[in-house]
Amino acid sequence: MTERTKTGKTVVDCLECGDRITVTGQVKMGQVVTCPECGTKMEVVDLDPFEIDWAYDEPEYKEQPEDW
Ligand SMILES: [Zn+2]
Repeated sequence: MTERTKTGKTVVDCLECGDRITVTGQVKMGQVVTCPECGTKMEVVDLDPFEIDWAYDEPEYKEQPEDW
């Protein structure tokens, strides 16, 4: 559920905790939105309708090669 106000703010629900994230100003494709509540990073994947998805750029998490 997203909504855009006339003041240029985009409100989106966090995918992780469901908290409302307010994005101010112009939102661009690929923009990373961080939830202030849980710190989850999400990326803008669509603008019309506004849609976010998980951002996979966590520097701390690296895929372990399955090679024992
Ligand atoms: Zn959250």
